[in-house]
This record gives sequence, C-alpha cells and structure tokens, in this order.
Amino acid sequence: MKTGDERAAAADLAVYHPEVKAWEVKDADGTHLAVFYTDYHPRPGKRGGAWSGRMRGSWVRDGKSVRPIATNVCNFSRPAGDEPALLTLEEVGTLFHELGHAIATFLNKVPYTGLAGVPRDFVELPSQIMENWALEPEVLKVYAKHYKTVEVIPAELVEKIRKSAQFNQGFATVEYLAASMLDMDWHTQTTPVEQDAAAFEKVSMEKIGNPPAIPPRYHSPYYSHIFAGGYSAGYYAYIWAEVLDKDAFQAFKETSLFDQATARRFRTEILEKGGSEDAMTMYRRFRGREPRVDALLKARGLK
Ligand SMILES: [Zn+2]
Repeated sequence: MKTGDERAAAADLAVYHPEVKAWEVKDADGTHLAVFYTDYHPRPGKRGGAWSGRMRGSWVRDGKSVRPIATNVCNFSRPAGDEPALLTLEEVGTLFHELGHAIATFLNKVPYTGLAGVPRDFVELPSQIMENWALEPEVLKVYAKHYKTVEVIPAELVEKIRKSAQFNQGFATVEYLAASMLDMDWHTQTTPVEQDAAAFEKVSMEKIGNPPAIPPRYHSPYYSHIFAGGYSAGYYAYIWAEVLDKDAFQAFKETSLFDQATARRFRTEILEKGGSEDAMTMYRRFRGREPRVDALLKARGLK
C-alpha cells in the first residue's frame, strides 16, 4: 500500500506533522472536491480514539462553491521495525467508518456551512454504511491480503468473523433497547419526578414488558450519556443509525456493491444535502420508501 500512498498523496500541501498525509480529492471529472488529511498512528501527546473532523466546511460565496478541508485522525497499530502496520479487524472497521464521515464532508453541497450539520440520529448513516463493504468478498480481494504471501483472506475465516459478530445479539439488542426506552421515558416527563430513580426505572421497564433477566444496559444513576453526555433522548440513535445503514446497504446488495446509479442517488439525495432537508424525506428519495428493520435483524442473526 505504501508506494500507492506516496504516489497519490498531494506532495505540495502543507501538513501539521511529518506523519500526516494530505490528499486532494477530485470528482470523476477532475473537479476539485476537498482536501483530506489522514493522521493514522498514535504519538506522544495525541488524543486517543478515532474521529473525523473538518478544518473548513463547505458553503457558497459569491456564487462559488467553497470546498471543505476534512480530517481523519485515528490511533491505528503502528508499523513495528521493518514490518508493515497490520490493522486489527476493529481498526479496519474504524478506517471505513471515519472515511465514510469524510466522504460525506467531501460531497457536501450546501449554501451555508451550518446546513452541513446533520441530526444526531442521521449522522452515522454515511459512516456506518461504509463498514458494510469491508467484509464483502469483492472488497476483501482488494485490500485483505496476507502481508507475506499476498494471499487473500480465506472465505472460511470471513464466515467465522461474520458468525462471531452475531453471538449474543439477542441479549445485546434487548439491553440496549431497554436503555433507549428508559432514556426516552426520563426525557418525556412533563412534571417533576419526585420518586426514587430505581422505582421510576422499574415502572418504565414493566411498561414495555422488558424481561427482568435483561436489565437496561445502564441503570439511571450512572447513565451518563443521557444526563451529561449529549445523548438526551437520543441514546436510540446508535441502533437507528444501524437500521438506516443496513437498509441503505441493502439497496446496493439488491443491485451490486458498486452500482453507479444507487451510489449516485446516495450521493445526491443524502451526502450532498447534509442537514439541509428533513432526514426522512432525503432517505425516502434515496430508497424509494421508508427504512425497514429487516436487514438489521438479519445482520444480527435475529431473523
Ligand atoms: Zn461515527
């Protein structure tokens, strides 16, 4: 991968650290779309985790499109000695995920930069959908090669990965949904709740018939997402994004993984519009209907 990288990275763009690579992203017809910085390995003083950001958004000024400057900052395994950097499966997922956020930024076509912002329960669609490609045989053939023998990862091994991802999904789904409903319950109170939080939670769980053997993922006293973490009444967004990404990916499975017409619709109806229109309206235009839960249930092995 190294030599291709060196060739494609834009040599004349300034970088903020020698390990950072700058790329010029162009449209199929050669039009400039964005500048993209990738900063993939840990180093002293760098924040942990992985995220996609923008140094500049996109907007229109004097009838001219101002193009964005996007970043992907991650902390992937670094190369050891003369060996190449070998990414874990989780890191591969992260790479596809953050690139998805970046692609959404590259393609934004909004008149005001504020309109690029997407509601929390829609913002993970462009990123999560990308993760679906990572384990498809046609895609694995391109990147998942043994670093010594150049052999593509065996199909049986990929099947094992798929199967292990479905382990215990019934429990995981229920405990997550229970926590999402609890969050919603707390945030839809219209009068002050003057009772013990545990008692409130008990009633909340009974209301939805949650099996007592599967308590909500977080109990109210330490459910920090919803009281201080910015997820107020929005904890459901993780699984909703998954409903969307699995259903949207299905549109490619129904045609082909690289279907140009489907990809173009995803681009023009969703990615280019950012947050400038109602999310469900945009989705309907892309998919021709509202999202369905079937693909998610199938992916989790629940159907
Ligand atoms: Zn994300």
